[in-house]
Amino acid sequence: MFQKNMELQLQIEDMSVNGEGIGKSDGVTFFVKDTVIGDQVLVKVIKMKKRYGYARLLKVISPSSYRVEPLCEYWRQCGGCQIQALDYMQQLHYKEEKVRNNLRRIGGFSIADTEKKEQGILFHPIIGMEKPFFYRNKAQFPIGMDKNGKIITGFYAARSHNIIASRNCYLGVEINEKILNLVIAFMERYQITAYDERTGKGLVRHILIRFGFVTEEIMVCLVVNGNSLPHAKLLIEELKKINGMTSIVLNVNQKNTNVILGEEMINLWGQNYITDYIGEVKYQISPLSFYQVNPVQTKRLYETVLNYAGLTGKETVWDLYCGIGTISIFLAQRAKQVYGVEVVVPAIADARNNAKINGIENVEFFVGKAEEVLPAFYEEYTRGTQKFVKDIELPANTEDVRSQIEIADKGAAKERNMLQPDVVVVDPPRKGCDEKCLETIVKVSPARVVYVSCDPATLARDLKYLCEKGYEVREVQPVDMFPQTVHVETVCLLSKLHSDQHIEVELQMDELDLTAAESKATYEEIKDYVLEHSGLKVSSLYIAQVKEKCGIIERVNYNLPKSENSRQPKCPPEKEVAIREALEYFRMI
Ligand code: SAH
Repeated sequence: MFQKNMELQLQIEDMSVNGEGIGKSDGVTFFVKDTVIGDQVLVKVIKMKKRYGYARLLKVISPSSYRVEPLCEYWRQCGGCQIQALDYMQQLHYKEEKVRNNLRRIGGFSIADTEKKEQGILFHPIIGMEKPFFYRNKAQFPIGMDKNGKIITGFYAARSHNIIASRNCYLGVEINEKILNLVIAFMERYQITAYDERTGKGLVRHILIRFGFVTEEIMVCLVVNGNSLPHAKLLIEELKKINGMTSIVLNVNQKNTNVILGEEMINLWGQNYITDYIGEVKYQISPLSFYQVNPVQTKRLYETVLNYAGLTGKETVWDLYCGIGTISIFLAQRAKQVYGVEVVVPAIADARNNAKINGIENVEFFVGKAEEVLPAFYEEYTRGTQKFVKDIELPANTEDVRSQIEIADKGAAKERNMLQPDVVVVDPPRKGCDEKCLETIVKVSPARVVYVSCDPATLARDLKYLCEKGYEVREVQPVDMFPQTVHVETVCLLSKLHSDQHIEVELQMDELDLTAAESKATYEEIKDYVLEHSGLKVSSLYIAQVKEKCGIIERVNYNLPKSENSRQPKCPPEKEVAIREALEYFRMI
């Protein structure tokens, strides 16, 4: 019915998780980038799938009352700010709904609503920013050449490596533009070449700028395809004149790769790091360090974590996925002891250094995967031997843990008590926590779990797991760390249910008489997931067929054919793929 290049009018009724507007025509759903809820638009179909399609915005016929004029003239090409045309209050509403919907659909939770008199989880309004622009403390600008051989910098066009020339991004700090102007003028004057991805020739690849919001210190890092920068002294003379300039460094990256930074750093002037604060805590940030990009909102996020952790000074806290130890150190101010676990080795080096410069002694950091380090400790803890750490069977990549915890061998009994966590904080990447990690959290049984998440879908999945094993979600607090984009951060507080309540939960599971794998997601949840992620509608029958193929169920009780030769529709391959994805997502296969 609909074909590529067809033009049609749509009323945008909703917005997808990726920020596209959603409109319907003759029962077919269309996703349209750059539109906002409430717009009436003229679009051109660019791609058709069976039940849904993608279209490009041609013209806004009647703008939504939520539509605003974006500050950035390149916002449609860039793709970094997917929802810049949406009024900020409405952006916040959109993000809140995203978290709510995931908790409901994937997690199966009810959310309290005083107006509708509905009971459920206490869900706080999202914490937004007063000024939702110029919030990023870090910017990375690619350097290249235009058709005429002129050096340009800007940002990559969406899903490509074509540089759109612009020295002014509204998410970054204003000083960035001045620095870019200086560096480009210097390159032009001394004929310093821009790196060309296709040939692998040319010197300067990227300019990385970091800015300390509290200290106003600035770092400029040139990523180069070489070991030195000709006439570097002259550039330094210019950059030094900028107020706050603290660090000028080269980063060597001679590999033909999309990864921006190489491993080697060469200091050109000043320190090789800048310092900044979150609250009272001081952090040294090098070009390679992972550091939250929105410091204003990070402070609010961490304060929420601190509040949810409910510390009195007596608690042992585990901070899993700790990065450079920002949350660990923040919490150590109020806890008895904090242990941080992180898989990236240099991040742990930064974390230890950060603890040191703040004079914080009640925090220790371990290198390794959360899902391996935590179980290793747990096993040792339950074994309860005096030998404690020396015998511990640690995974291969956690040599560092071994040397670290040998110190703890001194007073095994005392230390064992210290290891038993009262609070576990997790802040995993988008894919969420490994199930082994969640399983061990349940075993070590902390009174409280604080879950910090950058993906509400995996958050909902993991909360569901914890709630099936004796925890209860108490509070949910979304925080807008990335205004103008579709991303949302959420902090959740879970606490352990009393044991009688816990038994009740187990009974309910029993009564349902499901196998372990079956219990993980209901058919409705799988349908919702498939619809949201691939736009396909699937029946329970198809889901059952795929489950059977995967060996999760024996299909004895589901829509059995009435007679041997009665024909049942077979799940088509594209739906099977989509269902398998959902099953994987819910960790059923
Ligand atoms: N809590 C930190 C960083 C969170 S980002 C902060 O607020 O700054 C998530 C971190 O998890 C990253 O540093 C990443 O390297 C780390 N990570 C990813 N997978 C991990 C795993 N399996 N075990 C431990 N850490 C992991």
